[in-house]
Amino acid sequence: MRRLPVYFLVDVSESMVGEPIQQVQDGMRMIVQELRTDPYALETAFISVIAFAGKAKTLQPLTELYKFYPPIFPIGGGTSLGAALDYLMDDMDKSLVKTTTEQKGDWKPIIFLFSDGTPTDDPTSAFARWNNKYRRKANIVAISIGDNVNTQMLGQISDNVLRLNSTDEMSFKAFFKWVTASIKATSVSVTDVGDDDVKLAPTNGINLEKVDTSKPCIVDENFAVLLGKCSNTKKQYLIKYAKHLSAIEGLENLDMKAIDFKLVGAYPIDEETYNELCDGKSNRNINTMSLRGVPTCPCCGNQLGVVVCECGNIMCSDGHTTACPWCGMEGSLGEIAEGGMDITRGRG
Ligand SMILES: [Zn+2]
Ligand SMILES: [Zn+2]
Repeated sequence: MRRLPVYFLVDVSESMVGEPIQQVQDGMRMIVQELRTDPYALETAFISVIAFAGKAKTLQPLTELYKFYPPIFPIGGGTSLGAALDYLMDDMDKSLVKTTTEQKGDWKPIIFLFSDGTPTDDPTSAFARWNNKYRRKANIVAISIGDNVNTQMLGQISDNVLRLNSTDEMSFKAFFKWVTASIKATSVSVTDVGDDDVKLAPTNGINLEKVDTSKPCIVDENFAVLLGKCSNTKKQYLIKYAKHLSAIEGLENLDMKAIDFKLVGAYPIDEETYNELCDGKSNRNINTMSLRGVPTCPCCGNQLGVVVCECGNIMCSDGHTTACPWCGMEGSLGEIAEGGMDITRGRG
């Protein structure tokens, strides 16, 4: 029996924290449940899940459907698309069965690449390696989750670049149904007629559109994510803010807007996997003045989840004297200096 390998290469950078990564996790479970009821997919499809942030990691090696256990997705710092693609190609070399004179190998693998941001590494050499040696032997379907992805750049490695325009629960559900239908259609095609070019399901009624990648694409950052440490439990958490544009009082007639960042939420992270998937320290800053809203600490429930120490790091506090879990300095909360303070943002 020839396998139809299906890879999910999933961006787990900081901006995916919270709702989006939960949706992807639920979506993977749904895909597998659905495919298990399909005789064609059950016969041929093997699934692998690779997560990437600053670095890539296999969450599930190529596994037949009835043995597949949906993984828990970690969060990491950075969006190293080049490193992720290199990791995928190395895995393809290792895991795929090649066709020889003695045996029929695997069908062309389908790779679903999900990303929500701009690469933090330079993917040029990985792109060249992909286009030279792998592109003809694989079907890569690149999906931009939201409008924060340089789709023109994804067009350099894929003829199928799509954008999920809305990221609410309903849209994600419909999107994962589409992924499932596309895998089903391709497994029918390989089984019945031996054609292993990917058969994408229609996108009617889904907030998913095929992108014309010849058009230039301007991307902006939609989120700012900060790394905090709980002063009680010493555990780390992420605080996510969404960018918000508003009119400036007195300048409503001009095409100028004020930018600030509104609180989305605070989420505990698994520090070990977070560090494992990070590719270095961030050098991007954000001023505390532009942040709107303070979460409670998701680790201990302290009222103030964003308190900035003089060392530049973020901790939680109950509003009284607190020792900084990063540098050890003890301080009581004073007024934030006029003009705010620059603090380090996540890797994105
Ligand atoms: Zn805390
Ligand atoms: Zn400190």
